[in-house]
Amino acid sequence: MKRLFLIGTLLAVGSLSLAAMQQPPAAGGPKTIDIVKLKDNFYVLTSSTPGNQATFSGGNVAVFITDGGVTLVDDKLAGWGQAVLDKVKSVTSKPITRIINTHTHGDHTGNNNFFGASVEIVAQENTKANMMKMDAFKGDNAKFLPAKTYTDKTTIGSGKDRIDLYYFGAGHTNGDTFVVFPALRILHTGDMFAWKDGPLCDRNNGGSCVAFPQTLSKVIAAVKDVDTVIPGHSPMQTPKDLQEFQRFVADLSKHAQDSMKAGKSVDDAVASFSVAKYPGYKNERVKGSIQAVYDELKK
Ligand SMILES: [Zn+2]
Repeated sequence: MKRLFLIGTLLAVGSLSLAAMQQPPAAGGPKTIDIVKLKDNFYVLTSSTPGNQATFSGGNVAVFITDGGVTLVDDKLAGWGQAVLDKVKSVTSKPITRIINTHTHGDHTGNNNFFGASVEIVAQENTKANMMKMDAFKGDNAKFLPAKTYTDKTTIGSGKDRIDLYYFGAGHTNGDTFVVFPALRILHTGDMFAWKDGPLCDRNNGGSCVAFPQTLSKVIAAVKDVDTVIPGHSPMQTPKDLQEFQRFVADLSKHAQDSMKAGKSVDDAVASFSVAKYPGYKNERVKGSIQAVYDELKK
């Protein structure tokens, strides 16, 4: 038990902080982004897994090629705009006309300014409010904030080019958009499903590890007709994986709340939570999720 606890502590110390994740990588090395083809008119720009600061470029970017131009979902860390543009140009000659920001974080919004004010930028209204607090969007850069916002649901385009945007409540932040491409049966979750580990709940931007499981239940109930799930920071998944993640987060959140009610410390709550029944799951970020529940519920 003592050894297990020690390992848990080391993992927690070794895990990346939110601030570290949003830092552009050290200048120098080549900016290489990998691309995955999901459909003839749909690609994902990866190199999105945090951990290696030399290759981490920011979250998974969806590239949707429509009749009217290219829509991106998220646009990676500042400094990676040219690398994103080069990859998009390698698969289409159409211009980028729209960017959907799933949420406020710099590894998803870092190149709004690179792509310019001529691109239509779309986000949930709380995300726009969160972005207004960021240095990157102060002063003259306010023109790179989302010009188009929505509250609960909106649809862009029609037929094969249709995109549905949904907001189901707090989780990673208080403005996370789920993006659905109905004709292609693809869902981009942003960081509401970032990885198979404890979720990051950014309380400074309204995130909630208490509400997180219910928010995931809502997307699972409402969005049925998809085959592929694009997570925020890991390889492509299926709806079954998303359902499993919902159960994992529900377990973790309840464990944290029960532990807190029982008067246990955060470290005790971490030590008594096992990811063993979730194949492939890590516990590097479990402590952060449990701490977020404690912080949220403390009087
Ligand atoms: Zn994020």
